[in-house]
Amino acid sequence: MSLRRFPRLAVATGLAVAVAGTSLVQVTFANASGVPASAPAVADAVAHGPDDGHGHFGAGGKSLAGDYWNAKSKPETRASVDAWPAAATVVERLRAHGIEPILTEGYDDPKYEYNARLAGSGTTPLAVMMHDTGTGVPASRLQNTHSLNWILKGVKNSDGKVVRACHFYVARDGSVYFIYARRTWHAGAGDSMFGIPANKMNGYSYGIEIESQGASVQDLTQPQIDAAAKVAAAALEASQLPIERQIDHKLYAGRVQGKVDTAYDLNMWRSLTAPAIGTTYTAPYVSPNPKHISMAKMKWAASGTYVKRYQVALRKYAKARGINIKKYNPSGATGFYGSETRRLTKELHVFLGKRAWRNYVATRKSTKPGLGYPANKLIKKIGMTPIA
Ligand SMILES: [Zn+2]
Repeated sequence: MSLRRFPRLAVATGLAVAVAGTSLVQVTFANASGVPASAPAVADAVAHGPDDGHGHFGAGGKSLAGDYWNAKSKPETRASVDAWPAAATVVERLRAHGIEPILTEGYDDPKYEYNARLAGSGTTPLAVMMHDTGTGVPASRLQNTHSLNWILKGVKNSDGKVVRACHFYVARDGSVYFIYARRTWHAGAGDSMFGIPANKMNGYSYGIEIESQGASVQDLTQPQIDAAAKVAAAALEASQLPIERQIDHKLYAGRVQGKVDTAYDLNMWRSLTAPAIGTTYTAPYVSPNPKHISMAKMKWAASGTYVKRYQVALRKYAKARGINIKKYNPSGATGFYGSETRRLTKELHVFLGKRAWRNYVATRKSTKPGLGYPANKLIKKIGMTPIA
């Protein structure tokens, strides 16, 4: 579809100038090695490196590429009928949900898909992933389109060519930018799910970036939440996917990259998006008692509220006893039971073992016995209440 058919066309050219107009913001571009060329001017952003797992702002292409960093791109093999939804289809679905997308320059230009080494891959979307940009800048000082320039131009492949960093971008005021209609680099390395091989999510998913401080801070505006849920609905519809295919970055890459975005429970997003696609989503039951921890969730790759409750209590208890929680669990309470939670659990078991460690180690009856998982006694020890 031609650009002329969209009445409200805004082109991203000149955005860099608009963003640079304030002393608070200095857009940082990453070079090919993934190292930022210069540190952001904002003090809060300095603490967040490109690969600290809290977000995307300033991240290099390599960390976003997954298995496509060194992939061979074969544009000549591009299928005559592409399995990826057409830009016009996506725009139509966005409009059906009352979203008038701002079309960015090159939003359907095949060269960016070629640069992403995904041209001609023949893959089709199997998931829609929610992200937050993770600027490290508090909401009070966050510009409306703080990360937009980086999303459009800041991510490069190993040849220094620009790759789009997501498909949709939601500014602080809730306006929606259609960044790219084809395949992008937004997911990086992560777990296998929905039959998609590990580290290949970029070839099989839409990415929605929402402007945010990141680092698990729940700072999204209501217009952002409303718009992002509708964008997800449009992407699911364009790909004819059910609500369970709406995921977030931490579900896919929490274990592998320590990703914590979005800062919100995935069940919230699904609950908001489901009505928009004419279905309902019932979140798994979670006990309202904040002390309750389901032992069924104390296992590898489990995620959600119970895991987060455990992590928060575990970190507090371990920290109070002088255990270096930053060493074992640098990503904090992510709500994902991965290697960091296992390491910190093991460390606490070892610590307690100085006295009577056998009392605290998971029993042989546990589905995941070992020092890396808690048994009932450890849950009680850290001040929580184990439930089935
Ligand atoms: Zn993300």
